[in-house]
Amino acid sequence: MSLPAPVALAQDRLDVVATTGMIADAAREVGGDLVAVRALMGPGVDPHAYRQTRSDIVATAEADLVLWHGLYLEAQMEEFLLDLAGTKPVVAVAEALPTNLLVGHDDYEGRHDPHVWMNPNLWSLVVLEIRDALTEVHPEGAETFRANAEAHLEELSALAEYTARVLSTVPAESRVLLSAHDAFNYFGSAYGFEVAGIQGISTESEAGLQRIAELVDMLVARDIRAVFVESSVSDRNIRALIEGAAAQGHEVVIGGELFSDAMGEEGTYEGTYVGMIDHNATTIAAALGGEVPDRGMQGLLN
Ligand code: ZN
Repeated sequence: MSLPAPVALAQDRLDVVATTGMIADAAREVGGDLVAVRALMGPGVDPHAYRQTRSDIVATAEADLVLWHGLYLEAQMEEFLLDLAGTKPVVAVAEALPTNLLVGHDDYEGRHDPHVWMNPNLWSLVVLEIRDALTEVHPEGAETFRANAEAHLEELSALAEYTARVLSTVPAESRVLLSAHDAFNYFGSAYGFEVAGIQGISTESEAGLQRIAELVDMLVARDIRAVFVESSVSDRNIRALIEGAAAQGHEVVIGGELFSDAMGEEGTYEGTYVGMIDHNATTIAAALGGEVPDRGMQGLLN
């Protein structure tokens, strides 16, 4: 487990630009000393709504390789990235996942839910795509990329094991994860949780009063005591939900803040992919009555 090093744009490194922090983290893990990686979207940034800035346009124009997620995650950047692909290596790293591993998208027919990073086993396949993209652009680095990817996959496998273990300590009737938007479907199906988001799969859709009323009824009927806010989405709807439940005499607390579509602050453990998922799994398990080790999987959580 290595924290992201400060990026020095040396001439002899492959200049990689990634859209999300999760992709940048994987590119750093796999690329090691051979790459300088920059993420366009920082902590707290919502990828569904993000549009490229002037400095992003410059960074991608100068990059040797541009990595994006695809599956319509970067909805507002898609046209820009597809155009850019006509001029240089630009790879949508989640698009190559086999469709039988993807879940459908209620909001858009024919599309898939993009939030695959929520399952470390699925994310491992994306890491392999990133390894292949780096190798394609820089074949001399093939052996380094192969070895680094292998080491990172071992960390991800330990992460998947830890996540499954702590979540299995949550009492069966409490395995309900209610948060601001539908980012946790892959998480739910991997770990046996029922998930509900107030907004849909994209934060672009507005939550109606009726949706909030339905979810309040569910909280009361199922005796759900904790709901979760997300670092990249406004907590306005979650607060409306808590107030709605309180009006019916049912007390609900915020179980914690989850990293749904962006990682934590750069330079912190939560600002890495492993730290992000460790934080989510530990926070969810603790809030819903499970047993968790002090400060998570490896004692690094803040
Ligand atoms: Zn999302």
